[in-house]
Amino acid sequence: MSTSDLDKSIQYIKGVGPKRALSLGRLGIHTVKDLLYCFPRTYQDRSKVEKISNLTDGATAMVKGIVINIKSFRTRGWKSIFEASIGDGTSMLQVKWFNRPYQSEIFQVDDHVFLYGKVSLYKQSLQMVNPEYEIASEEDAPGKSVGILPIYSLTEEMRQVSFRKLVKMVVDEHYHKVEEIFTDDIISKHKFVPITSAIKNIHFPDSMDSLKDSKRRLKYEEFFLFETAMALRKRGIKEVSGYKFCIGKNVETHIYKLFPFVLTKSQQKVISEIHEDMCSERPMNRLLQGDVGSGKTAVAVYALLAAVANGFQTAFMAPTEILAEQHYRTLTLMLEKAEVKILLLTGGAKTKIKKENIERIKQGDIDLVIGTHALIDKGVEFKKLGLIVIDEQHKFGVMQRTRLRQKGHKQMPDVLVMTATPIPRSLSLTVFGDLDISTIDELPPGRTPVETYRVPVKKENDAYGFIRKEVEKGRQAFVVYPLVDESEKLDLKSATVEAERLRDEVFSGLNVGLLHGQLKPELKELIMSDFVNHKYDILVSTIVIEVGIDVPNATVMAIEHAERFGLAQLHQLRGRIGRSSHQSYCLLFGIQKSAESRQRIKTMLETNDGFKIAEEDLKIRGPGEFFGTRQHGLPEFKIGDIINDFDIIKLARADAFDLVKEGHKSKDSKEQMLLKRIMESFKDKLDLINTG
Ligand code: ADP
Ligand code: MG
Repeated sequence: MSTSDLDKSIQYIKGVGPKRALSLGRLGIHTVKDLLYCFPRTYQDRSKVEKISNLTDGATAMVKGIVINIKSFRTRGWKSIFEASIGDGTSMLQVKWFNRPYQSEIFQVDDHVFLYGKVSLYKQSLQMVNPEYEIASEEDAPGKSVGILPIYSLTEEMRQVSFRKLVKMVVDEHYHKVEEIFTDDIISKHKFVPITSAIKNIHFPDSMDSLKDSKRRLKYEEFFLFETAMALRKRGIKEVSGYKFCIGKNVETHIYKLFPFVLTKSQQKVISEIHEDMCSERPMNRLLQGDVGSGKTAVAVYALLAAVANGFQTAFMAPTEILAEQHYRTLTLMLEKAEVKILLLTGGAKTKIKKENIERIKQGDIDLVIGTHALIDKGVEFKKLGLIVIDEQHKFGVMQRTRLRQKGHKQMPDVLVMTATPIPRSLSLTVFGDLDISTIDELPPGRTPVETYRVPVKKENDAYGFIRKEVEKGRQAFVVYPLVDESEKLDLKSATVEAERLRDEVFSGLNVGLLHGQLKPELKELIMSDFVNHKYDILVSTIVIEVGIDVPNATVMAIEHAERFGLAQLHQLRGRIGRSSHQSYCLLFGIQKSAESRQRIKTMLETNDGFKIAEEDLKIRGPGEFFGTRQHGLPEFKIGDIINDFDIIKLARADAFDLVKEGHKSKDSKEQMLLKRIMESFKDKLDLINTG
């Protein structure tokens, strides 16, 4: 079969050999197929060479010229610079590359070169900095028509020209062997070009139009494979039998009586979705999203208590000790009269007590365990775990979710994950594509939107005066310092010194508390509960209060050095206030240094909408960073762009979920082959995903 041809090691291709195979390996290219699927990063249209004399400042253009002279040197800062002057008979162009030591070997005087890049004006003459470049070769001989040429992402040891030659050879010989994985239905429905022509044209396009068609086809394919894996994972979870809870009116009335408020319509809606999941025999696998302050905790409490009423143990996991403690406090208070045995499990607890607690959980003596990631420690076992709630799930990774779920026994516990960081549309179809999603889209009644202001340096004293006035009105305030890494002693010192300055000078006469991650757990807990009980007017804190903290009487969130926080963090911090009917204020101190930080502050000033902020954040940071690390299960797409290809993702997802639903029984060999291929390409991920 032709597949074996495509699986052939790249080393045996003419002109490759062991040494070159090694450098190809570094790009992830091991087989012929890998090379066919190594798509260009960009393209150059060689038919559009511009005369140097026609260039203008700010334009992006392609020129072709002769190298007149070259010079390479180092700056005092030990940066290497390579400079060249290029002439094309109409004029001269200066070109500079920074920190590319290889450059000096590549260019020689008299070489004919192509340059592609942005033109700028420097000391009265036109230049290009770090342009794409290429020495002209026989491809470009006069009379030969070269159209659109591919540019690949290569390591420094490789050159575009020779790599392109290799790709050309391999494509010409093998492209027709690439198998079509889609059914004719899908192909005709979306008017796709055949895979063979897509592969050929993605490397060496006949025209811009055929390039566009090929891209669309290949992006779809990539998303389709991923979405099918998602659909399989989702179906996998649904096929396992879970617990079938019985939640009658009686139980519900009991639970509702515990809340000191009437649930909003939105809360009721998501509760009915959760009710349905819990009462079915399939395990719940649901994401609850709702902006900061929308009242997710009450929904969690409903699910937890409903499971407890069915005689099961439950776990409620939060990302920080402070938040776990807050949940413990709230729930203990709420359940004072109910017969629910509740316990707090965190990493900081004393060993002896912790041991006892773990034993009680194992014996089934505890109904509701609230804790941090200490809950997923090896030693923690449950007797009958029926439901898991994970708060602020974006702070955890996929693995942690999986590990908690594995604490269940023969049957899979129901899982509810909650997040205040709304999932941007494209991610809800990809990274979280296996979860059912419920959304709380309203805030409890009587809230006034938080007002946000930027505080320039010369207005700082006015802002402090404003905070004092709020305190005099009986309100409380947070002042937050950037101390991203708790181990940064230096910053810690500055936060402490600053807190003392605020306490002794700026806010003299008021009660100021100081909270940071390095305090002993008991002390943290004490300071936090003292703030809740209004023993402090102002709490100076590091980012440890970022998520979840609920002190409705606090109406000011002052953020020092706001430029050092990410957008999601700023929005979370702002979410600590505006939790009562009092008008709340978010004050952003600091100097906006970079364009990015300016953009973040601007977004904060413009909107309170967590959804818009998340979309903006995703744009600024890109999907990788948005999630912090790869543990979140975000795949690296080769050609698909998770942000800009939303429409294609949507199509691919619909088709993939259709296939998995029907393909279950289908005898169609095409579909079987497709599923097999997907299983192969996502093997690693499916392992991680299956129990996920
Ligand atoms: P989040 O969704 O950010 O976790 P919380 O669950 O902490 O929000 O709730 C925010 C605040 O709103 C809490 O003080 C909570 O008691 C209150 N709250 C929740 N639901 C309601 C409601 N239906 N009516 C009034 N207040 C509510
Ligand atoms: Mg919360």
